[in-house]
Amino acid sequence: MDSPGKPAPGGRAARSEFSIRGLSRVRQLGGLPWMGSEGTSRPTRAGWRLAGASEGVVLAEIVLQQLAKSFAGGIHALGAIDLTIASGELLVVLGPSGSGKTTLLRLIAGLESPTSGAVRIDGRDLTPVPPHRRDVAMVFQQAALYPHLSVFDNLAFGLRARGVPRNQVRSKVNTVAGLLGLDPLLGRRPGALSGGERQRVAIGRAIAREPRVLLFDEPFSSLDLPLRVALREEVVELQRRSGTTLVHVTHDQAEAMLMGDRVAILDRGRLLQCSPPRALYDHPAHRFVATFVGNPPMNILPCEVERAGEAVRIHLLAADPALSWTVPIESLAPGWPRTSGPIELGLRPEAIAVRGPCPSAEAATDSPILCGQVRRLEFNGAELLATLALGPHRLVARLPANQDIQDRRRVRVVLDLSRAVWFDPASGQASNSNGPGEGR
Ligand code: ATP
Repeated sequence: MDSPGKPAPGGRAARSEFSIRGLSRVRQLGGLPWMGSEGTSRPTRAGWRLAGASEGVVLAEIVLQQLAKSFAGGIHALGAIDLTIASGELLVVLGPSGSGKTTLLRLIAGLESPTSGAVRIDGRDLTPVPPHRRDVAMVFQQAALYPHLSVFDNLAFGLRARGVPRNQVRSKVNTVAGLLGLDPLLGRRPGALSGGERQRVAIGRAIAREPRVLLFDEPFSSLDLPLRVALREEVVELQRRSGTTLVHVTHDQAEAMLMGDRVAILDRGRLLQCSPPRALYDHPAHRFVATFVGNPPMNILPCEVERAGEAVRIHLLAADPALSWTVPIESLAPGWPRTSGPIELGLRPEAIAVRGPCPSAEAATDSPILCGQVRRLEFNGAELLATLALGPHRLVARLPANQDIQDRRRVRVVLDLSRAVWFDPASGQASNSNGPGEGR
């Protein structure tokens, strides 16, 4: 690991210089293929790297096999995780505090030993391999820099420890400094840097080493929003260009959705889903994912459903008999569970529309159009978020910013059931989920 007190690995043969040299080449050519004005579509990141790099590229597929970690005192930090991270992928691990994100990263880095299971990189079981021989670089929440060394020397540290020739060290450090905007700071020491600058140096030091795998443990969490936005864009761009496999941990769902090729959702040590951002949003495999991803989160309505021939009667669990309606089966999303009984109906805010005033509560019976009352309106410039009361239930609808709607009025609420996701109330699993690996 490349951190103070833990010298970077030595003795590695001068391996790929693709990422750094490739960067200079890309810059000389005026950008990457998909940046041109010729309307070239952006290929997948791994696809670009493989196509553009025929030599010296280090592939690093990470396979987690039944990986579990418990700590003394019966703390089960991580369950038996099965996950394959493709070479060149930017995987974001997202979850609330204590869900096991850092533990997962530390297991890949070798800073923790698994209780059971294995970490493999390109087929090799790393269990007996110490951290400094894993060829991974980790960036921590708080930048860990050598305080007595200049920025230049911090960036150069891992390269020098590996015996990289002096002129190459200079060239690589200068390239990385240029990419991360560190040129004016090369002569300073960490004590004379801002938090954002220190974090940039930590990221630069990890990248300069050209490891097979980069591990980022919430490196932006202590920064203010504009800096976070700027840094995450830089990191995505750098990762795209270099093609290094990157596992990035965060508890910020917006950051996860913007950065990840795929996002792995952890909750209490369990991997609930690992999918590309769009699949995660549209087809959450678990109720937790549905409510953790998305702002506002998915609306979850407890219901009772009953098959009636080619139709289905859906009754929102509430005393009000008007909160029932019958719909033809073909109007339901494919995930419809096809059995009668209790179920939870999940609807994203944009699957709910409001259509003018509600004439009467009766008008809503036997129809997917219900009567609700506006309880709160939030205007954010681009859209209007309306909180609606349907009996005891509260829903949030995402409406056009210019929709004419009054607070406290009764309105017709239209639910687009073709976009519904149905969850088992006991397990929380989506009825059409294939499990956590969906979308892999
Ligand atoms: P955060 O976002 O707050 O950093 P996290 O998702 O990264 O949380 P971890 O740090 O991986 O979560 O911790 C997962 C669980 O394991 C927590 O319950 C934590 O208290 C526990 N844990 C982590 N490290 C240790 C340790 N060294 N000894 C005992 N328990 C630990």
